[in-house]
This record gives sequence, C-alpha cells and structure tokens, in this order.
Amino acid sequence: MINIQLFFLVFLKVYILLITLYPSGASEEFCTKPDGKCDEEKINKYSKENNAEFQKFLQAIREAKEQYIPCKESKCSCHANVITNDLKTFGDGITKKLLDSVNSKGTKYQIIDHHLYREQSCMFPARCAGVEHFLLELLPKLPDTEFILNPRDWPQIHKNYGLFGPVFSFSKTSQYNDILYPAWAFWEGGPAISLYPRGIGRWDQHRNILGTLGNTTKWEDKIAKAFFRGSRTSSERDPLVLLSREKPDLVDAQYTKNQAWKSDADTLHAPPAKEVSFEEHCKYKYLFNFRGVAASFRFKHMFLCKSVVFHVGNEWIEFFYPALKPWVHYVPVDSNATKEQLEKLLDFIKEHDDVAKKIAEDGYNMIWNNLKMKDVSCYWKKLLKRYTKLLTYKPVLDKSLIEIKK
Ligand code: UDP
Repeated sequence: MINIQLFFLVFLKVYILLITLYPSGASEEFCTKPDGKCDEEKINKYSKENNAEFQKFLQAIREAKEQYIPCKESKCSCHANVITNDLKTFGDGITKKLLDSVNSKGTKYQIIDHHLYREQSCMFPARCAGVEHFLLELLPKLPDTEFILNPRDWPQIHKNYGLFGPVFSFSKTSQYNDILYPAWAFWEGGPAISLYPRGIGRWDQHRNILGTLGNTTKWEDKIAKAFFRGSRTSSERDPLVLLSREKPDLVDAQYTKNQAWKSDADTLHAPPAKEVSFEEHCKYKYLFNFRGVAASFRFKHMFLCKSVVFHVGNEWIEFFYPALKPWVHYVPVDSNATKEQLEKLLDFIKEHDDVAKKIAEDGYNMIWNNLKMKDVSCYWKKLLKRYTKLLTYKPVLDKSLIEIKK
C-alpha cells in the first residue's frame, strides 16, 4: 500500500515538473528551416512563444530570398538605380539659374576641358581632397560640367521645405532630394579616432586587410557575441549598450569618446571604452551598425569581416546601401528596437547558426564584389555623365575658381 502511494506521489511530481517545463503544446515539433522543409529537422527546444517569433524571422528570410533578384555585377550596375532615382527629380533639366540658386548649399566645382576647378575655400579641406582624388583620376573621361558638392554630414534639399535644386551629398533619407555621391572617406577625410589619427580612409587598404581576414577567419572560431564600439552620435545606440551592461555574455557594446565628449554622461554614464580596430571587430560573429549624425562609415567595413551585420534603422543611406538587401545580406533591426527585442533577435540568430553564416557570406560577397575602388570611380563617372546630360546650358569657366591639380 505504501509502495503504491509512493509511486503515485513520484508520478505526480514528475507530471508537475513536465508541465512546468513544457506548457501546453510546447513540446510539439516546429519547423525552423528557412526553406520550410522540416522533415529531417525535429526541433522542440523552444518555448511556443519563442518559436512563433522565430518562425516570423524565418518567414521574413524566405520572403526576402524569394524576392531577391541579384544585380549585374559589372560596371557598377548594382548601384545604377540610385543615380536614376536621384536624377529623376531633375528630369525637366537643370538650368544655370537653378544651379546658381543652390550655390550656398555646398562647394562649387567645375570640369572644363578635362581640368578640375573649385571654389577657393572648402569647409572641410580633407573631405574635398577625398572627393578630388576620384575626380582627378577620371578627368580624361569627364565632360565639361559644373555641380554643387555638399561636404557636410547633413543633406541640404528637403522635399517639403527650403530651397530646391541639384546638390550632391554623401548621405540622405527619403525626405531629401539631394543627389548621392560616394563619400570622401573612401580615400580620406573620414572621422579621426586615436587608432586612425589621420581619419578613416583608404578603403582600398581596409578592403584588402579586412577582406583577407574575413576569408581566413573560420566562422566556427568567431566569438558568438554581438559587438559594437563607437561614440554616442545617436541615441539609437543606447538599447544595445544597455543590454550589454545587463548581459555581457551576449553583447559587448560600449561607447567610446569623440571630440564632443565632456563627461561620462556623454558615454551613457559609464567611463569611455578603449577604441577597437576594425580588425578586432572581425573576431565576433555579430556586428552592429547604427546611423550616426547621418549614415555611419563603419557599415561597409563590417561586411568584410564575414560576420553577420545587424543594421539598425534603414532611413539613412549612402549610394551603395540600396544594393544590400535586408535578410539576404544583413539582419535588419528596427531603429526603435528595445533591449528585449534585440535580445530575441540575437537568440534567434544564435539558434540558427547556418542561417547566420549564410547571411554573413552573402553580405561579404556583395560588398567584396561590388564596392571596389573601381566601382566607386565607376559610380562617379556614371553620375557625372548622366547629370551633365540634364544641364540645359554649356558651362563656361568661372574665373573665381581655382584649379585643383594632383
Ligand atoms: N570606430 C572604430 N573603433 C572604435 C570606435 C569607432 O573603428 O572603437 C570607427 C567607427 O567604426 C566609425 C568611426 O570610427 O567608422 C566613427 O565612429 P563613431 O561611432 O564615433 O561615429 P559614427 O560616424 O559612427 O557616427
């Protein structure tokens, strides 16, 4: 009799334990494969809630892959649509009067008879030099033209207010009519940090170093943690930094100082972290990119680590962003994502290592194959040729400009 009672007691305890661990339905088998073929995979380790969330991510990946049409990887064709879209606004032609009306929005350049001319002063000389590197190289192939180049971070031609006219800017959102040009930082004039005191530039050199590292570091040897280092140029970075403080095994995200730093308040009430080189970033599987004042220059570097890039927010773009597709080349993250949402996304990607590895590889290939220095030059050439066709007049040399030589 005692034995029967003992048996029922043990049975009851085991039953209670089981329903606590696996609430109703959670022990069902769920499909976790991006192609939806689950016959060979029987995973039941997630809670029902997690699994529903994970299925949403997998569905988004499936849809992104179905809709993805690879671009033609020659003559910077992957980025050509950006030029078409930016110039559409000026389809009726660019008159001299229209160009002159936006003179104050940037630095005036002219190309006349294969010589380059610029206004005497440029607000950011290193930025102008970074742009001129490409223009000088292309001079023999460029038509006579003139344009206004905005060397500031912020675009100038808002769609709903202010001036209207053709202004070249390196970054913008869909709210602006600025014409995108490849940033100066591909050559020089990028942000200076202690590790890169002359500014992050020379994309050709970073490309080779990081591209090789990305190819030689095994995925399995990377640390399965999210990583971010940078200053607090936008508060959209805060949730990841706060998550890192709570869950250092999941995320290492810390704020560094920039020139505007005055106290720990500027690094979200913690002492500034030491800066970390791009090469060091490559040790981690998951790398975060955020906008700063405008688009951040780190985006392209992160891909070459062959790690998964988590791209937060999709508003701010440079000319090569539209060729990169969410869930194909990177993991998209809402710019308002909370700590909890970031954690869930990271849990998902950690649980789906094969999915993560594929996104990392596809992101790497897209940048490696389509963002060579040759592609940057090609974009400049295509942009200036198409833009010049819209000028309704033949530019004549403005004597107030100075000639820029190599
Ligand atoms: N950066 C870096 N290591 C660091 C901090 C920053 O390589 O420890 C790079 C970063 O990737 C970016 C640039 O320095 O390209 C400026 O970063 P920051 O976060 O200060 O500003 P952002 O331009 O991203 O708004």
